[in-house]
Amino acid sequence: MRYTYVNIEFQTGICLRSRILFVMQKWFANVGNAIYTILQGLAVTLRNGIATYDKDRKTFTEHFEYPELPVQVSPRYRGFHRYDLTTCIACDQCAKVCPVDCIYIGKEKVEGGKGFKVTGFTIDYTKCMFCALCVEPCPVDCIFMGGTLDLSSYSRDGSIVDFARLPIDTAWGRATLNPTAVAESKTLVQPVHGGPNQ
Ligand code: SF4
Ligand code: SF4
Repeated sequence: MRYTYVNIEFQTGICLRSRILFVMQKWFANVGNAIYTILQGLAVTLRNGIATYDKDRKTFTEHFEYPELPVQVSPRYRGFHRYDLTTCIACDQCAKVCPVDCIYIGKEKVEGGKGFKVTGFTIDYTKCMFCALCVEPCPVDCIFMGGTLDLSSYSRDGSIVDFARLPIDTAWGRATLNPTAVAESKTLVQPVHGGPNQ
């Protein structure tokens, strides 16, 4: 009976000691982890602090000066469309496939000939979701997603763009599509080009 009591006391002592050891190990691991994390943060601060003394370093606005020097986008970026009025045959394929019905095409039958003359090609960017579905069915490859990303304006009207009234270079993405060009296009009554069947 006495032997059993001593044995239990001995086992309880071992259990307590290993538990204390475990808790201490965990505590030291947490302290080590905290010190490592703080040092990592300080290293980032130090690196950026030293970088401010680099004489070639420029601010973001010195690299990109909007609108003359816009931020570069990747080649497959889906920005405002590029549209070539000189080849569009007004077949309506892009408008039919658009899931939000935001492409409006004006056309007139060519007198004494085949096909249509384009009188308007309007995209309502308050509805467009830049899905690029309109690009795929075009039989003459005259509509693509462009790299322009800003068309800020004070009214919703500024987001409704008639590509047929923009300068051809602007509509096709060789010149930046901007609010001024869109505002000027709204004063025109005739398209700048009638398309390939004019
Ligand atoms: S990108 Fe999509 S939503 Fe926008 S005009 Fe084309 S099909 Fe319509
Ligand atoms: S942009 Fe292409 S798909 Fe759309 S009307 Fe013109 S030719 Fe047809």
